[in-house]
Amino acid sequence: MNDRPNPLRSLPAVNDVLAVPPICDLLATQPRERLVEAIRAELAEIRERLRRGETVVEASRAELLAQAAATRFHQAMAPHLRRVINATGIVLHTNLGRAPMAEAAAQAAHAAASEYLNLELDLETGKRSSRQNAVRDWICQLTGAESATAVNNNAAATVIVLRALCQGKEVIVSRGQLVEIGGSFRIPEIMGVSGATLREVGTTNITRLSDYANAITPNTGGLLLVHCSNYRISGFTESVPVEDLVTLGRERGIPVIDDVGSGALIDWARWGFTGEPLARSSLAAGADLVLFSGDKLLGGPQAGLIAGKKEWIQKVEKDPLMRAFRLDKMTLASLEATLRIYLDEERALREIPILRMLETPLTTLEARALRLASQITSLPGIASAEPRADVSYVGGGSLPDQTCPTWTVEVQARGLSDEELSYRLRRNNPAVLGRLRDGKLILDMLTIFEAQESALVDALAGVITSQEAGGSS
Ligand SMILES: *Cc1c(COP(=O)(O)O)cnc(C)c1O
Repeated sequence: MNDRPNPLRSLPAVNDVLAVPPICDLLATQPRERLVEAIRAELAEIRERLRRGETVVEASRAELLAQAAATRFHQAMAPHLRRVINATGIVLHTNLGRAPMAEAAAQAAHAAASEYLNLELDLETGKRSSRQNAVRDWICQLTGAESATAVNNNAAATVIVLRALCQGKEVIVSRGQLVEIGGSFRIPEIMGVSGATLREVGTTNITRLSDYANAITPNTGGLLLVHCSNYRISGFTESVPVEDLVTLGRERGIPVIDDVGSGALIDWARWGFTGEPLARSSLAAGADLVLFSGDKLLGGPQAGLIAGKKEWIQKVEKDPLMRAFRLDKMTLASLEATLRIYLDEERALREIPILRMLETPLTTLEARALRLASQITSLPGIASAEPRADVSYVGGGSLPDQTCPTWTVEVQARGLSDEELSYRLRRNNPAVLGRLRDGKLILDMLTIFEAQESALVDALAGVITSQEAGGSS
C-alpha cells in the first residue's frame, strides 16, 4: 500500500474535467459556474472517500469524473415539482395536488399568466373594478346565491368570514363538528385566529337545536355548521339540520354560516356517494353564507368559495385580510373556466377530470387494465402483471369509508421487492405512485389518464432495466 502513489495527488483538476465529455458538451448550453460547482462537489466527495481508504475508480480518470459530475449537475438543476402518474386510485390526493384541472381551466390559467388581462378593469367604462367579478355571477348562477366571492382556500374563507361577521363575539358550534381537516386546520384554532370566541355546545354524538338556543347570548355573532368531511359519526347520533338552525338564527337575528367543505356542485349520489351536502341546498334552506373548497369535489383550482347574502359578502370583501387572501389572476382565470363548464352539466361530466374518472364505465376500466397488464407482462424482468377488479377511494378528506369499483393491475418484478419497485418508480420522471398490497404493486386504472399509459409502461421498463444493469443492490 505504502509504495503506491497517493491517489489524492493524482486527482484530475477542475479544468481537466471541464475539457472532457460530457462536461465539455454541456458547457455549450449550461452555465459554467453551475458545472464547476458540480465538479468541485464531486471532487470533494471523492477526496473524502479516498481518505476513508475506499477504492474510487473515478479518482484518476477525468472522463469518469466528468460523467459523475454531469449526473450530479443534472440532479442539482432538476425542478423540485415533477409530473406524477397517480396510480393510487385516490381521486383527490392532497399530496398530489388534489384535483387535476379541466383542459379549459388550465388553458385559461396559461393565458392569464402569459398575457395581460382585465383583472381589475371594467372594459365598458374603463374604470377600476373588482377582480371578484370574474367569478361572482357564475357562483351565484350555480348555487342560487345572492352574491359570492372567492379566496385562496376554504381555510382562508373560514377565517375571513368569522372575522368579518363574528370578530369579538361568540360563535356557537356543535362538539360533534370541531373538526381537524389535516395540516393544522382545526376549527377551534381557526376560530382563535379570526378573533371570534368558540362556544361549544352538545356532545360528540348528540347536539340538539335546544343546545344552540340555550347558548345564545347578546354576544353571539354566528351559528356555525361544519361538515364532517373526513370522518363520520355513526350509531346513536343526532345533529341539527341547517333548516332548523336557520329558523333559530332568523328568530334571534343571528347569521348562520355553513362550511360544507367539499363543494360538490352536482350530486355525488349518482356514483353511490352519499352524505355530501350541496351548497345550493344549504342556501335554499336559508343559510346566510356557505363556504367550500375549489379543489375538492368541485374539481377546480385551490380556492375557497363564499356564497350567500350580499350584505355579508360585502362585509367580507371590505375586511383588510381580503388583500392577503385574494386569489391571483391565474387561479381566478382557471376557477372562472371551471365554473363555466358546470353551466352545462353534461359538459362537466365530460371535461372535469375527476368527474370524468367516475363517469368512466367499469367495462372501459377493465379493458384498459387488460391492455396495460399485457403490455407490462411482455417487459423483461416482470414476474407477473394481473388485471383485477378492486375498489378505490375519492380521498382528499372527502367521502370517508365510501368506495367505488375500479380495475387494477397487480405487478411483481423479478428479483425486486414491491418496496424497491415502488421506490424506483417514485424517483422516475414522471414519478409513478401506486399502492402496495401483499408484496405487489397495485396500479389503479381509475386515476391513470389513458394518455399516460405508455409513459407508465416506459417507466416500468426503465426502472426494471436499471436493476439488471446495476446487478444486485
Ligand atoms: C377541506 C375542508 C376545509 C379546508 O379547506 P381547504 O380548501 O383545504 O383550505 C375546511 N372545512 C371543511 C369542512 C373541509 O372539508
